This record gives sequence, C-alpha cells and structure tokens, in this order.
Amino acid sequence: MISDVSRARSRLLIGALVAAAVLGTTTSAIALGVALSPPGRGSVSADAPSEVSHPPGPAGTPTPVASSPNGTGTTEPGRPATTEPGRTSPTPSAGSGGTPPDRGVPGATRAGTRPPVVDHGPRTGNRVALTFDADMTDSMLYSLRTGRVKSYANLRIVELLEREQLPATFFLTGKWVERYPELTRRLAGNPRFELANHTYGHLAFTGNCYDLPRVPSRNMTEDVAKTFRVIEPYGGRQTRYFRFPGLCHDGEALAALAPLGVTVVDGDVVSGDPFATAWQPIVRAVLDQVRPGSVVIMHVTEANAAMTDEALPHILAGLRERGLVPATLSEVLAES
Ligand SMILES: [Zn+2]
Repeated sequence: MISDVSRARSRLLIGALVAAAVLGTTTSAIALGVALSPPGRGSVSADAPSEVSHPPGPAGTPTPVASSPNGTGTTEPGRPATTEPGRTSPTPSAGSGGTPPDRGVPGATRAGTRPPVVDHGPRTGNRVALTFDADMTDSMLYSLRTGRVKSYANLRIVELLEREQLPATFFLTGKWVERYPELTRRLAGNPRFELANHTYGHLAFTGNCYDLPRVPSRNMTEDVAKTFRVIEPYGGRQTRYFRFPGLCHDGEALAALAPLGVTVVDGDVVSGDPFATAWQPIVRAVLDQVRPGSVVIMHVTEANAAMTDEALPHILAGLRERGLVPATLSEVLAES
C-alpha cells in the first residue's frame, strides 16, 4: 500500500500550501499563484478572534540537524486516548500524549518500532477516506491577529459534511486546535469524524521540505506528543494517525515517532486545493485519481484553500457515480 501514485506531483501541490502557510500572507500566496479570496465570496469565521497584543514570534527558526535520538523511548502502558465525547472544557494533562495508547485505538502501533507509512487502504471494496488537514503556523496566526486573513477554518466544509451525514478524518495541528477550540469541539462531537495529528505548528520534519521552517531533531518526538495532548481532551473518535507537514519524512523523522505508537498516513489522492482558483480543477484532480481504498488529501484551512467547499459537492457526486462511498480513515485502512 506504499505508493506509487504521483508522488512528485503530490509534493509539488502540497508545497504551494506549505509555502503559503509558512508565509501566511496574501502576498506570498499571490506570488505562488494562489487566489486566497475569490471575489464575491464571503468569509465565515469559526471562532471569535482572540486578542493578542504581542507581535508574533518567528514562525520557526531553521535549525541545523542535531544528532538524532535513537528513536526508542518510553513504552509504559498508556491510558486510553479517548475521553468522553462532548466534553466542554478540555484540560490537557501533561505526559499523556507521549504515551502510546492501547492497541484498540485506530492507527495505534507497537511503540518502540518505526511507524508504518500508509498511502491508501486495500483496493477492494468501495470505500474512500476524505481527509482534511488543519494547518496552523505562527505566521498564519499573525495573519489572523492583524486581520489580513479572516479565517483558516472552513465552516462550509464542516456544515456540508454534517448535513450529508458523511464521515471524514481531520488532521489537526495543535495550534489550529488552540485557535479554534469551539470548532474542534464540534468536530470531536460528531460520531462520524475521526481526529488525527498533523504536528503542533506545522514545522518541517526533514530538510528541503519546501520553505517550511524545520523542527529540531531533538524536538520531533515531543512536538507530536504535545499535539496528541492538545487534541485528546476533546474526546470523540481519537486516533493515532499522523501526517507530516508537506508529507516530508525520512528515516530520522520516522524513528523520532517510534515511541509514540502511531501510523503515518500520507495519502494517494492530492486534491491540489491550495492551488485552486476555481473548484473544477480540484474536482478533476480528485476524480481522476480516486480508487477504492484511496485517501484523499484536502484542507479545511479556508484562506489557504478557498475553493475546497465549492469543490466538495461535486467530488461527492463524482464518487457516487463511481460507486465509491466516503468512510473514515480507520474504516478504509481496515477494509479487506
Ligand atoms: Zn499541512
């Protein structure tokens, strides 16, 4: 199941969003040919903006590669990763995220071994996984604070999925969760939605991952563990699925995740939604590539992927025509 399909193209497409996320500005996005705010489209803000008076810190400082940890770590038994759905005041508890959960949690793997990397499920059956990445960097937060960007949370996507009662999987960065706690609560409260991990602040885990600032090697494990600690208190359908920013990973990055007992999920269908200035190319990209077992990569980041909500109904119609049915990631990967 390790692919295969259009890796180079995938990386190119994802790169644009990554770059836009790093720079966090309309200007940079325009330079990349990405239309962030098509004329005439209103913006829906997901949560009330938080007032922060401090100037932003750097989006992350590129750091020379430090010597790698050996990739093994704590393996003591963990508490279950899930908590009660519908909790209203998450109280992150220190230490939980770094502890591997029991094997019953989707995506959980044996801690201490390099995690598997999965692009798609078995090519049998008729299920496909719709996955939505929720990127958030310091630069993006700055754009929100200064009002340059209204929202990195596309409520139209969530509303459509809710209305159609469709399953989906959300790869959340810790900083996105912290910026949109109400929406995170809403995602966690939906029994059809799975929550997964997309790092804390969308830093690169390898060199040359587009223009993403890099997380120091020594911080990789904690970055991902911390993100689990941010997400877990929201309960709902927690998983141990993890996606690297830009899909960039190497042996060192994978070794750093070994203590956490995760499954790395890339995906085999890149929608190209961050590039799109219209919905049609997104629909074409998805429907041209999608097959049984596919994992479709889209974004719920609104300003950085402004046409995704318009593309989605057409994607769903195309899937129906092909006899393909959306399912959660755990269902798609488990199907045989
Ligand atoms: Zn991302």
